[in-house]
This record gives sequence, structure tokens and C-alpha cells, in this order.
Amino acid sequence: MLIRNATLPDGRTGIDLFVQAGRIAVVGPALAAPEGGEVIDAAGWLLSPPFVDAHFHMDATLSYGLPRINQSGTLLEGIALWGELKPLLTEEALIERALQYCDWAVAQGLLAIRSHVDICDDRLLAVRALLAVRQRVAPYLDLQLVAFPQDGLLRSPNALANLRRALDLGVDVVGGIPHFERTMVDGAESVRLLCEIAAERGLRVDMHCDESDDPLSRHIETLAFHTQRLGLQGRVTGSHLTSMHSMDNYYVSKLLPLIAEAGVHAVANPLINITLQGRHDSYPKRRGMTRVPELLAAGVNVGFGHDCVMDPWYSLGAGDMLEVAAMGLHVAQMTSSAGMHQCFDAVTVNSARILGLEGYGLEAGCRADFVLLQARSPVEAIRLRAPRLLVVRGGQVLARAPERRVALNLPGRPGAVDFTLQR
Ligand SMILES: [Zn+2]
Repeated sequence: MLIRNATLPDGRTGIDLFVQAGRIAVVGPALAAPEGGEVIDAAGWLLSPPFVDAHFHMDATLSYGLPRINQSGTLLEGIALWGELKPLLTEEALIERALQYCDWAVAQGLLAIRSHVDICDDRLLAVRALLAVRQRVAPYLDLQLVAFPQDGLLRSPNALANLRRALDLGVDVVGGIPHFERTMVDGAESVRLLCEIAAERGLRVDMHCDESDDPLSRHIETLAFHTQRLGLQGRVTGSHLTSMHSMDNYYVSKLLPLIAEAGVHAVANPLINITLQGRHDSYPKRRGMTRVPELLAAGVNVGFGHDCVMDPWYSLGAGDMLEVAAMGLHVAQMTSSAGMHQCFDAVTVNSARILGLEGYGLEAGCRADFVLLQARSPVEAIRLRAPRLLVVRGGQVLARAPERRVALNLPGRPGAVDFTLQR
């Protein structure tokens, strides 16, 4: 397969990609067309490596309205609602919803998802269901699973044993929720235990960490410490980190270098944290997203996650990582040219690093996985939530969509509108 005349996220234009045996073989201008191979004209549109969602909950997705709607839209009612839904879940229905979501994802060029899966259910029903889904979607989507003790590793009676069982069954990553344990001390102890389990088993770690507005929550510091102590640099992620928004500035100036030194990745979930955090505030209301530009400036790798789509916590969302990038950009006020590009990176290359994806990128030798966007640059892609014209995985076209144009019939001014030309 030859892709002709693409624009790349780094700004290069008129680039061709020659794909052979599922990999990108050559990248450059004016490549010779392969004998008998497919030639696709990118028409100067933006060719990007696929979107990557660094933080999701696939066991709850598309369950909106089951068994009822979250009336207040708050985190606490969401957790209560999930508790009501859990006993009603069946493996078949969960698999069906997850597969449907994966279809949505692929159609939007989202080809790798890290999903947390609740292990605080002695049946491990969601674990078994998502392991089956991981296998089913493997030919077209990388699904990475995190063993997530939603009700607390130490607070929920069988969570530690269930977590080990889930890992034995093949769940990829060790999860946690230290701020939900009964005490700060228990939270710190859960971080130690979980990091040690990951070190013993050679696994990655991704914890819901300090997901509160509590300025004194300190679990990210503990996570950085154990990462350093156990030599887990590059394999550990702190998800949410919303308390950092409310922390004392002096303390944060000490914390940021500790996170960077430990090579701990950070994940912000802009859509969710802008709606769920700051709910106990009157005015002014805190924004409740972690300090994204400051983390990046300190040398920390930051990815964005979708977190939820149509579930007990969030009734919106469509699996569109460009919507996630747009919200992150606005909430973090990352409106500089560099900042806007960083937001595109947060839903592509940065998140790929968090998942540890092999062969991700558009260089020769990388997997032939990419998405063609009806935009001329990453910033335009975010601005327009650009249509995904083509989604390719391993050199195989998984999805195609027509360019978006609107036929106008205005008195005296008929014609078509192509929004990408309104620059
Ligand atoms: Zn989450």
C-alpha cells in the first residue's frame, strides 16, 4: 500500500508512506507506486498515528440509564449508581457494550485503550468479560487492562486477593485508589503493596491517585517514592492527580521534580474532572484538573484519557479523543501554539508511551497504524474535531468516511462549505 501526499503532525507536507507486511517500510516524498499495490491519495490531509486513550472504564461504558440515571451528575451519586448496577451486570451484556464501544473507537481512529476493570467483585465478572473482549478485538484494537480495586485495596475485604487473581488471569497492569482507603496511612500502604506486586511480576502500574480536591492528599509523592525505590521508572502512571490543582504552590514546586525524577507518567481526564471536581465549592469554583503545563515543563510525560462514556459518572462522550484534547486545551489554558500541539500529543504519542506500545509512530519500521484526518494540522484537527477519513491498522483499512462538506443553497450564494478552508 502507498499513501500519497500526506501532511504529518510535525508539519512536513507532500509525504508518501510505503507500507509492506503490516509495517511502514519507507517515508518520504514522491515514492514509486508498488506493483499491484493499493495507492491511496491523502490529498494533503493530516496523517497521524492512531489516537490512544490512556485512561478508560470499559466495564461501565454505554450503561447510561442502567438501572437509572445519575440525577445530580456528581461523583458520589455515580459511585452509588455503579454499586446498584454491579449486581445486575451479566457477562454477555457487558461484552456486547464493550464491543460496541470498540467499534465506535475504531471508527474514530482510536486504536489503543487502557481500561481499568473493577476487581471488587468476587465473581470477577467484569474481568472475565473484558479479557474475552481483549482477545476478540486484538486484530484491530490494543486493549490494555488495569486491575482496579474501585472500593479500596485495603478497605474492601477481598480486594487484594481478587487483584492477584485478576493478574493471574492475565490482566496487564496493577491499579489502585489510595485516596479512597480509610486513612492516609492505609493509602500509602496500598501504594507500597501494589508497587511491590508490580515489581515482583514485572508489570506496569496505573493508579487513580489523589482524585479529590483535598490539597493535603499526598499519594502521588508516595507513588513517586516507591517507583524510585523499586526501579520502576517509566512503568508507573498517576491518573487524575486532581488534588495537585488545589495543593500549596510551594509544595508542588518540590513535588514536580520528584515525579519527573521517578519517571512517573501523569494522566489527566479533562472531560470528567472538569465536571466532577470542585463540586463542594461555592464561587470561585476550582477547575479540578491537574497541572498539565507545569508537569510537562518539569519533564513529566502527560497523556489525556476519556475516562467515561455514557456511564454512571458521565452521560456524554462519544469515544472522540479530539474532544478530549479540546477540553484539556481549554481547561489548562494551553492556547499557545506549542501548548495546542502538546494537547494533540497527549492523545497520541504521549499516551502511547504510557501504554508502552511497540512500534507506534510514523517512522520507517513502525507498525502501519494510522488515521487520516480532514485537517491540515494537529491544531486544526482539534478545532474541527476533524472527520476520520481513513483508519488503517497493520496496513489494513478498517474504516473509511467521506470528506465533510455542506451543500449550501443560500439565496444568491449557492455553493459548498468546507470548514477546513475557513482559516
Ligand atoms: Zn478512572
